[in-house]
Parts: sequence; C-alpha cells; structure tokens
Amino acid sequence: AAMREEVIDKKKTVCTYCGVGCSFDVWTKGRKILKVEPHPHSPANGISTCVKGKFGWDYVNSEERLTKPLIRREDHFEEVDWDEAISYVAQRFSEIKKEKGSDHLAFISSSKATNEESYLMQKLSRQVIGTNNVDNCSRYCQAPATMGLFRTVGYGGDSGSISDIAEAKLVLTVGSNTAESHPVLASKIKRSQKLFGHKLYVFDLRKHEMAKRADRFFQPKPGTDLVWLSAITKYILDQGWHDQTFLQEWVNGLEDYRSSLEPFTLEYASDMTGISAEELKDLAEEVAHAESVAICWAMGVTQHVRGSDTSTAISNLLLITGNYGKPGTGAYPLRGHNNVQGCSDFGSMPNFFPGYEKVTENDVRKRYEAAWKVVLPEEIGMDNHEMIEAIHKGELSSMYVMGEDTGVVDANINYVTAAFEKLDFFVVQDLFLTKTAEYADVVLPASPSLEKEGTFTNTERRIQRLYQSFPPLEGTNPDWKIIQLIAKEMGHDWGYTHPSEIMEEAASLAPLFAGVSYERLEGYQSLQWPVAVDGTDQPLLFTEGFPFEDGKARLYPVDFELTHDTDEEYDLHVNNGRLLEHFHEGNMTYKSEGITRKTPRAFIEISEDLAEERGLKEGAKVKLISRTGEAVGHVTVTDRVKGKEIFIPLNDNGELSINLLTDNRVDKDSNTPAYKEIAVKMKVLKKK
Ligand code: SF4
Repeated sequence: AAMREEVIDKKKTVCTYCGVGCSFDVWTKGRKILKVEPHPHSPANGISTCVKGKFGWDYVNSEERLTKPLIRREDHFEEVDWDEAISYVAQRFSEIKKEKGSDHLAFISSSKATNEESYLMQKLSRQVIGTNNVDNCSRYCQAPATMGLFRTVGYGGDSGSISDIAEAKLVLTVGSNTAESHPVLASKIKRSQKLFGHKLYVFDLRKHEMAKRADRFFQPKPGTDLVWLSAITKYILDQGWHDQTFLQEWVNGLEDYRSSLEPFTLEYASDMTGISAEELKDLAEEVAHAESVAICWAMGVTQHVRGSDTSTAISNLLLITGNYGKPGTGAYPLRGHNNVQGCSDFGSMPNFFPGYEKVTENDVRKRYEAAWKVVLPEEIGMDNHEMIEAIHKGELSSMYVMGEDTGVVDANINYVTAAFEKLDFFVVQDLFLTKTAEYADVVLPASPSLEKEGTFTNTERRIQRLYQSFPPLEGTNPDWKIIQLIAKEMGHDWGYTHPSEIMEEAASLAPLFAGVSYERLEGYQSLQWPVAVDGTDQPLLFTEGFPFEDGKARLYPVDFELTHDTDEEYDLHVNNGRLLEHFHEGNMTYKSEGITRKTPRAFIEISEDLAEERGLKEGAKVKLISRTGEAVGHVTVTDRVKGKEIFIPLNDNGELSINLLTDNRVDKDSNTPAYKEIAVKMKVLKKK
C-alpha cells in the first residue's frame, strides 16, 4: 500500500455537478486529488470545465464523511457495523411489507448516483418490495419539460446535442441562468454568438450575465412565458409564416391547435407579459424566419403550476416553425444534476420502467416479470409529492432516500420534515449526516462518484462511463452495493460483481438502451440514446419522424391562467436559483474552502427601487414571510432584479433556506413544486 501512495494515477471521470456532463481525467496520488485535466476528446466539453468541475472535489475527502452505519436508539445515533445495519433494514422493510402492504414503502433514487444505481433502486422497489412507489428529483425540476415533450414529440430528452445549440442561428433561453447553472454550455453559445454572429435572445425575470450578453433581453412578468410563446406562435400562423411542408409531413392536430390559440392575441399577451405588441411581432418574425432555432429552458419555466403547459408551448412553437430533426434545431430542457436524466431514464419513476416503458402495459410488465421471476404491481406508484402527502394521511409508513437532502430541497420543508417524523421507519443513504439524515432511523454511508464505476447520462442523452480513482473510503460502500446487500438479505441474491453487469441487464430489458455496453463506452467514447442493438446511437432525434405509431408529432393545445399570488399584503415575488460557485443547498460545494471563501453565504437580492421604497441599504437584515413560513437574511441591492421581485440563491440550508418560504402548490400535470411562485411580505429587522 505504501508503494501505491507514491504513484500518480490518472482516471477518467464525469463531473458530478451539472447536467452538461463534462468529462476529464482526475490525477490522484493515494486519496489526494492533484488536478482535473479535461481531454480534447471529452465529448460535451472539449478542454473546458467550470469552477465546480475543476475545484469542487474537496467534499470527497471531507472530514465530515460518514464512515459507519448509524442506527437510531431513542434520541441518539449509535454506530453499528454493516451486517447489523443491513439486516435491521431488511427486517423492518419485511415487517412493514407484511403488516401494512408493499405500497406502505417508498423509494427515492439519487440523481447524483449512477444509472446502474437508479436501475437497482427501482428493481429493489418493484421486484423485492413489490411497489411502484419510486421516484427521483426530476420531480423537483424537469418533470414538466419531460411531460411537455412527451405530449408533443414523444421523447422527454433534449432533441439534439450541445453542438446543435452551438450551431443554431437563433438560440432562445427561457427561465435559465445558463452562464451560472450550465457554464460550459453557456460558453459554447457565447462563442457562436461572437465568432459566427448567431443570435441569442434571453427571457428571464433576472438580468444575469447571459441576459447582459444577449442580443435581445426580455423580462416578462412572473409566470407568463406561456402567453408570449403562444402569442408569437399564433401570430406566425396568422401571417402564414409557419413551415407548411414540415407540418403536413410530420405533424398532427394543426386545426384544433390553431383554434385553441384564439385567446392569445398580441394585445392580451402584451397586457399579461409586459412585452409590447411591437416587440412580440418582431420576435415572431425573427423566430419564423431564422434558419435554425433551438430553445433552451430550465427551472424558470418548469417550477410553476403551469410548468408542463409552458414546456408544451415551447415545443408547439418549434413544431409550427419546423425546428425539429435538423441540425441546430430542437428543444433543450437543460438538466440540473449530472445524472438527473439518467436517473429517470433507468426507471426510478412511479409510472415507467427503464427506457420510459409504462408499468401499466401488460407486455412490458410480462417481460420484466419473466426476467425477475416475480409478479409485478400493475398500478402507477406515488411520486415524491404524493409520498409526502401519503405520510401525512397515514398511508405511507417507510421511506428509503438515497443521496438526496429531501428535507432541504423539497418545497415547504416544515411540512416535509413533519412528515419524516411520522414515518415508522426511515432509511437515508448519503455521504454526510445531512439535515434529512437527522430524521432517519438508519443512516448508511455511501461513496461518491470518484470511488466507484458506473455511467452518467448528461442533458444531451449522452451516456458516459466513470472510472474509479481510488477505493471507497473505509467504512463506506457504493450505492449499488448497498442496495444489493439489502435485496440479498430480503431473499433476492442478484449477484452483480461489477456495474457493467447491471447495465447489461438493463440493456437486455429496455429497448431504448439495447446496444449499450461498457465496451462501447470505453474511455471517452459515449452513446446518446436511443441506442440500437448494433450500437448505433442518435445524437439528433426526429430526423426520420417522431416516436408515435404514425411517426408524426402532435400539436397540443394549452390554455392559460395566472397562478402566482402576490396581493396587497404579500406584495413581493420571490424567485430563486443557482450561483456559479455553489451547487444547490451546498452540501458538496461548501466543503471546498476556496469556493466558500469566494461566496460564503446566500443573500436576498432586491432592486434599487425596492431598496429606496423601504429605506434599505446594502447588508440590511430582513425577514421574509410567506403564507407558509419565514426566512431571514441580508439584503444586496442590484440592477439584476426589478421592481418588487426578489432573488434568493439556493445555497443555504439554514435560516435563509428558500424552502422555508415555498408552499405545497405544484405543476398541475407533473406534481413538480411551484418553487418559483412565492409571494412574501418583508419585515425590516435592521436597516444598516
Ligand atoms: Fe461540471 Fe457543469 Fe461545470 Fe461542466 S459545466 S464542469 S458538468 S458543473
């Protein structure tokens, strides 16, 4: 072992932060991480990375890593060995299954974990426990985008590659702070703008870096994107600027859709959004006549009561203008976590097996029943939102949460943690004793990506391998091994010796991944699903039609209703999002000293107008009170927000945690929390 410490090792990995999926070599000596070196053949990023991918790795060797399983004894945790922890979990799961039924248990996969681990979590849930109650954090973010795309074009992923976004003559970003949330992808857009004169139009509440660089920047009123999208689509149709050949050949439902657009006149749209009719006309003309259009969107669209409908409106616009199936075109919901795409792809969803095949379809279920030698549940399970509700109603008794700080990141956390307290048995698997883990009955110490093998799938549906840089920290285990231990203890000996065998099984069962194998993913090679048996993948979707029976896409009518609820008392609208340096609640990035020094804490960003109105100076301390909770923090005054809009970054899990303010409202079609529709009033604590 001493010899080994001396040797410098170099292993390829994939970034464990955002969905861009940058890959690079990690240089190590023993457990020491020496540097991160991108490789010219890194498919998503070439030689670029951002600050998180380059410097955000200190969490791996943090002193705060858990190294022993913990079992709750009355009011404290006791360290136990793995055998005891696993047999206790298996015993309690079995008891609850027997006494209350399989549907009293629920499972949350991690979008930080690998595809293989997501596959095993849903297998544990379905095969061993016998329930479809399994979900993942795409429920908090892009589930509405997936819904909007499923309805219209049939696949819930990005329709092309990052290179298509770079090739698009016109890029629209809607509700996306791309430069901070997806930095390397943003740099490709900026590069095309600078070198080739491609156009960038940004739509957001907040004038962030991307907005400042945009050729045109629009600041619609909160929650009204659906309106301007539908209005310009209508105007394009009215002017006869739509792509008639494309529509005729590839799209169904034009006439119904056209009449559904009637309410979306320019006057109505400009009234609702605050964008003038003239600007909307211009915009319609630009979009209709651009040679290729790609639309990127993120949480600013999805985390609303109308998140699925707004995503649908984006896809409708792309269909009307023929912007699918050609290089430089398409729909790009930008995935948040490194593997939030893959976590859904590999079946950790209450309604889908791996590869988006429905649990309600007999043929599909039969295939899995034959492979897994059990009878599988026929009914759709609970999603994350329904799980929390079910606990409060006494209909769910046990949860197993892998790698997610649910008690911080779910909306209305006071309500969520109150639910945790009602659980009979709660298992949390993580690197650290997170806020969520504090409520657990058993805590299982997991290993991060650098300590294991597996695959991640980035925002462009690209499956990439990661290689182990060094063995798991003593006392910890990779998630796939832990899940497998629990399954075995419950009588299902899966016997995987390497994640490649898990992928082999997934590929044999899910047609979407039929040709995926570790050999085909060797080194910097990658595959973008769907992958045929012969290994052919599809960087650009819909070149030969859409995955519906008749090969045609569908225009899907949507209507509009204003759902955010500021009023005289709760007069301020709170928006929230990421900062460049931090990732979400900061459980990982705060462990890097350099990053923490640069951006030590979250803040409350207010406009100059609001500062003046309330007599607030930079650094003033205020309390924000929503209809469900309160948060406290210090004010920063900027020109990035306007009027009565406030922005709070996500990286606080203390008294400025955004989810102290959010409530139980959700997207009506996907149950994604409406995180971006918070009304608050402000109480000044110290003017400064
Ligand atoms: Fe990681 Fe995203 Fe930064 Fe790339 S852009 S290094 S994937 S956080």
